[in-house]
Amino acid sequence: MARPLPDILRIDWTTGAEPSAAVLAAVDRAAAVLREGGLVAVPTETVYGLAANALDPDAVAGIFRAKKRPTGNPLIVHVADEPQARRLAAAWPPAAATLAAAIWPGPVSLVVPKAAAVPDIVTAGGPTVAVRCPAHPVARLLIERAGIPLAAPSANRSEGVSPTTAQHVLTSLGNRIDLILDAGSCDRGIESTVIDCTVTPPRILRPGPLARSAVEAALGGPVAWPEQGGGDRPVIERSPGQGRRHYAPTTPLELPNDPAGRVAELLAAGKRVGWLVLTTLEAARGLAASRELVAVPMPTEPEAYARQLYASLHALDQRQLDRIIVDSPPAEAGWAAVRDRLERSGSPG
Ligand code: AMP
Ligand code: MG
Repeated sequence: MARPLPDILRIDWTTGAEPSAAVLAAVDRAAAVLREGGLVAVPTETVYGLAANALDPDAVAGIFRAKKRPTGNPLIVHVADEPQARRLAAAWPPAAATLAAAIWPGPVSLVVPKAAAVPDIVTAGGPTVAVRCPAHPVARLLIERAGIPLAAPSANRSEGVSPTTAQHVLTSLGNRIDLILDAGSCDRGIESTVIDCTVTPPRILRPGPLARSAVEAALGGPVAWPEQGGGDRPVIERSPGQGRRHYAPTTPLELPNDPAGRVAELLAAGKRVGWLVLTTLEAARGLAASRELVAVPMPTEPEAYARQLYASLHALDQRQLDRIIVDSPPAEAGWAAVRDRLERSGSPG
């Protein structure tokens, strides 16, 4: 029997203000669904997460089913504060203490040894757990009112583009989940920086909104970078965001060396093309007359680019295009997270 579509509860809440009775009522309804073992999509400052009670293995199994996520991919557990994170950890390494104090609440997940209380399904059977204290007021209020830690990967079908709006969640997961809290667009727009605190020096497993330089400044020392194996295969497979193909739109995506030339070639072959334009504005203008081309000018700052990236990919994916062409972002450190996501979006299955 088909399940109904999830209720979407709109949250109107100005940052800094006390939550209204309506906001509390919506969040409390979501908290009740979570305590009963259900699935709730929740806005965070990175992307929308699909939350379940992290201490209930059956509820967490629901996340894997809804996303069609391979069970080998561990989940990030979201907490209200550092003490709650420590209760999920068998040990709290000094790097975790330093980073949590400096950066939380914020877009950083810390990998630490897991406590027995954390079900194996959350960590994909592994000995470590990733924990994050989000900064988004709705996510924070939800964790507090539910009174439980929330396992929450991105609220999309596995391998797809992460959602940055409630509509993206609805399109991707629809009737597979119970409830969506809609607080508008996510501020950061890409998934958290993941840092392994079980090794010395700590290692960034997935680049994200908090740049390597900011992590090093917070730590007062160096961090290691994702290890590359042969070719483009990461050595550490236990971090699911490191799967070679991830964050990918349905439409094939390319990062060619000569985007303008490639677009012209595709158009000449009668293809319909989407183009995320960063450095080739003049060339894009020249080709813009073509009805078969959808050119999207992208912001030239990495933070603004990240905020808009997934929404642009979702929008292009709706348009039955043959190909999405992306101008390569600069090779500078500040663009590392955006480059990481684009390279994975473009990898062949
Ligand atoms: P997402 O579906 O984007 O929320 O992906 C979850 C992310 O959690 C992955 O990209 C991993 O980098 C990270 N992660 C979760 N648990 C662990 C863990 N125990 N060790 C390493 N990375 C983890
Ligand atoms: Mg994801």
